[in-house]
Amino acid sequence: MIELVLAQDCIGCDKCIDVCPTSVFDRGAKGVPTIARHGDCQTCFMCEAYCPTDALYVHPQVTPLADHDDIEQEHVGRYREQIGWGRGRSPGAKVAVGPELPKGALPPRRSSDG
Ligand code: SF4
Ligand code: SF4
Repeated sequence: MIELVLAQDCIGCDKCIDVCPTSVFDRGAKGVPTIARHGDCQTCFMCEAYCPTDALYVHPQVTPLADHDDIEQEHVGRYREQIGWGRGRSPGAKVAVGPELPKGALPPRRSSDG
């Protein structure tokens, strides 16, 4: 669930407001978004992914945190970096660990007559 808006890093671009599927944010003073409808957050991470300055933090827990002291600071503003969005970053799909794709001839096609 969205937990933090880092006002000092926000440039007021409105991207988080535009991408949020459930209109959680309102535009606040100087363009810094406010979390106006916290309970509507779907924990989809889209706002954090699109924020160009890593000024948002979505916690993986789907209910509001009782205490922001529980937030691990090294995770704040890191989601976008981890998925490789942003100038100079490697797309996460390129560095994801997964099984090797088979090399060589393609498997035979299934014939239509069985
Ligand atoms: S995590 Fe998704 S639903 Fe929640 S505020 Fe961000 S964009 Fe909106
Ligand atoms: S996307 Fe980031 S920089 Fe843009 S308004 Fe939202 S918090 Fe601010």
